[in-house]
Amino acid sequence: MSPIQQVVGAITQYQTGSAALARIQEALLLPAEPAAPPAALPSAGVEPAAVAFEEVRFRYADDLPYVHHGVTFAVPARGMTAFVGPSGAGKTTVFSLIERFYEPDSGTITLDGRDLADWDLPRLRAAIGYVEQDAPVLSGSLRENLLLGNPEADDDALARVLKTTRLDDLVARLPDGLDTLVGHRGTKLSGGERQRVAIARALLRRPRLLLLDEATSQLDAVNEAALRDTVADVARTTTVLVVAHRLSTVTMADRIVVMDAGRVRAVGSHRELVTADPLYAELAATQFLGADD
Ligand code: ADP
Ligand code: MG
Repeated sequence: MSPIQQVVGAITQYQTGSAALARIQEALLLPAEPAAPPAALPSAGVEPAAVAFEEVRFRYADDLPYVHHGVTFAVPARGMTAFVGPSGAGKTTVFSLIERFYEPDSGTITLDGRDLADWDLPRLRAAIGYVEQDAPVLSGSLRENLLLGNPEADDDALARVLKTTRLDDLVARLPDGLDTLVGHRGTKLSGGERQRVAIARALLRRPRLLLLDEATSQLDAVNEAALRDTVADVARTTTVLVVAHRLSTVTMADRIVVMDAGRVRAVGSHRELVTADPLYAELAATQFLGADD
């Protein structure tokens, strides 16, 4: 029996292996995206970018339902725009489309009035800093984690972004400062600190547009205030789009875009929307974390 069992085992292994090989070949056959040359990174006097969606319809695949059914909004250069809405409304998809991870099925998306399709992809990506919802902090030192954003960044640039993200106090407290090991091996960072490390990493690239998909996890008061102040600071010189889960973020936005089921249902300030839009009022009362008024 034993040799037969070995043969059967080998056949199973072969089948698993060949399936994996097929997946690897599939990935290798995908067209490569051109890499961003370091020279494409803006060096000084970064101009904030304007973004607009015009009747954007989009679905992830032909056999899936539409996720955006004609999304329209315009965001001027500089300042902060918050996107709110129930889970599944299509907020994160807005960011994926701006990054051009996907193309809209119809309608147009523009950056500085120019269709995204006409942008050179490395230039477009260099203009955008994207902080994903659960932005990873990798094992390694804090410095290494930050330099992933821009390996060319010098100590002055590091000090500046640490100040902007209110991480300078934390670094001062850490035993080895910037060389402290973070991530799953070394010192554990809190959720709020991780998100600010991810923002700092994105800022080192001097983006013209910062996309921040806020973490849904609860933050303590110190981290909440630090995140709010960070976003307010960045929005003074850069265009900031935030998928917001916190009232403290939303209330300081210059404008709020309320999304529901793939559509924009209202745009306005917190004050306006609380009275004008029942869904917004409900979200503000129940879903936003840290709601206290
Ligand atoms: P939100 O950020 O507002 O919660 P998303 O933009 O993440 O919403 O998702 C909108 C819809 O698109 C959801 O129904 C979600 O399941 C679907 N979706 C999101 N990402 C993908 C994907 N990569 N492939 C297929 N469907 C997706
Ligand atoms: Mg989302």
